[in-house]
Amino acid sequence: MKIALHTCCAPCLAGTVDVFQERGDVIPFFYNPNIHPLIEFRKRLKAFEVYAEREALDIELDREYGLVRFLEQVGPTGSGRCPACYRERLGRTARLAAEREADAFSTTMAASSHQDHDAIRAAGEQAAAESGIAFLYEDLRGRAEHGRETARKLSLYRQQYCGCIFSEYERYKDTRVEVYRGRLRG
Ligand code: SF4
Repeated sequence: MKIALHTCCAPCLAGTVDVFQERGDVIPFFYNPNIHPLIEFRKRLKAFEVYAEREALDIELDREYGLVRFLEQVGPTGSGRCPACYRERLGRTARLAAEREADAFSTTMAASSHQDHDAIRAAGEQAAAESGIAFLYEDLRGRAEHGRETARKLSLYRQQYCGCIFSEYERYKDTRVEVYRGRLRG
C-alpha cells in the first residue's frame, strides 16, 4: 500500500511515521497554508526537511506561504475556522495522493490532542469522496509524546501554537513578561 501522509509538522511526523510505514510506502506531504507568520512557516518547513533528509523519506512539499489563501477560506474573523482549514489541507493531500498513484491518504494531525478529531475525520472523508482515494483515520494521540521526545533529541523546531494568526493570538494574548524576557535574552 502507498500512503500520502499530510504532515503538519516535524514532531508529529516523527511520532507517527512508523505507524504508517508498517502499512506500506509513505509519502509525507508538507502542505500548510495555515501557518503564520512567514518566519514561523519557514521554521516548520525547515524542520520537516531536516527530519525527512535524516530519515531518507520520499517527500512532497509546498513552499508557498499561504496567508492570503488561508484568509480567503476562513474569513477575516477566523470564527469556526478549523473545519475549513482541515478541508483545504486534506483536499490537497487527496489530490496529491491521486497524482502519486497512492492507495490512501492520512494526516499527522491525528497525533494532536489539540485538534478536533471529529472534524478531521469529516474533512478526510469528504476529500476521499471527492478524489476516490481512501482516507485512513487512526487516533494517534498516544504517539505525540514520542514525537516530542524525538524532536527534543534531534533539536528539531517545536512550535508553541497551532499555526494560524488566530491561534497565535489565542496562545499569547494573556502573555506579558515571558515574551519580553525572551526578547531580552535574545
Ligand atoms: S487553529 Fe489550527 S487547525 Fe484551526 S484554523 Fe488555525 S491552524 Fe488551522
